[in-house]
Amino acid sequence: MPTDPVLVVHGGAWAIPDDMVESHLRGVRDALAAGWRVLKRGGAALDAIEEAVVIMEDDETFDAGRGSFLNRDGKVQMDALIMDGATLRAGGVGCVERVRNPVRAARKILSESPHVYFVGEGAERFAAEHGVELCKNEDLVIAREVERLREYQRETVAQGSSSAASSRSGKDGNDMFAPVISHDTVGAVALDRAGNVAAATSTGGTLNKAPGRLGDSSLIGCGCYADNLSAAVSTTGWGEPIMKLVLAKWTADRVSAGNLPEWAAQEAMNYLKQRLNGHGGIIALNARGQFGIAHNTPRMAWACKTVKKEEAGVERSAP
Ligand code: ASP
Repeated sequence: MPTDPVLVVHGGAWAIPDDMVESHLRGVRDALAAGWRVLKRGGAALDAIEEAVVIMEDDETFDAGRGSFLNRDGKVQMDALIMDGATLRAGGVGCVERVRNPVRAARKILSESPHVYFVGEGAERFAAEHGVELCKNEDLVIAREVERLREYQRETVAQGSSSAASSRSGKDGNDMFAPVISHDTVGAVALDRAGNVAAATSTGGTLNKAPGRLGDSSLIGCGCYADNLSAAVSTTGWGEPIMKLVLAKWTADRVSAGNLPEWAAQEAMNYLKQRLNGHGGIIALNARGQFGIAHNTPRMAWACKTVKKEEAGVERSAP
């Protein structure tokens, strides 16, 4: 029996300021529309999330594709993962600098490679050989981000790194590395008419990160996971704690144990906060079309659509 499709997307979790709410909402709604077009005509969840994420990678509002945060050297360095809940096939790219849409490269890996994960130059070569458009790194860098990095590095030097770190230190010591600004990573989870779920996450990572630093977003089970038997999950937020908790898989496991995705998503945010003083947001969807959206940051950009209704927002209260 065909299943009713569901699509949920996010565009990062942080204290999105009032004057940026509109662009975030527009971005997640556009992504939703692109993904829904695929689901509506009976297309696969995998195709729907790819199209949704491409829209947000191309949207400079978000920390993915063009407009991503810059690393310490002033370069865009991106990570992405896509995963198919029906087969557990996955494709990931890490630290790519010349791929306009990292999720497209990740999808090619999923579909056309015996391997699961490519990084750096090898990932770019694989992408080019499989028809994914490459670009110059400068094409992905925008003035807003050059200014943001400059400002951040100026402040860090002015404060001195030790006092900057101690002013941010938390009870467990992890907090001293917490990025103080935004998280605009993007992600999508979908359920298609065939009853399959899929998930994707794409990011430029954290501001001023060390070159070669890989976050949670593209790591299987950390920033993204999909299994028809549990759930499709995408996370955003401070990557290091999310990675240590393998949070996407942690959440999917709670769903396969019989909990609702809504509960599991909220629990994941509580766990992240309590265990490592981490912050972020999460979307989770099971193959019955039940989903959860949660964040422990002041705001998170999200949008969701079912055959009955469409919603979008920058806040989601706990169930
Ligand atoms: N989780 C991402 C990372 O740490 C950042 C984000 O979600 O904004 O790379």
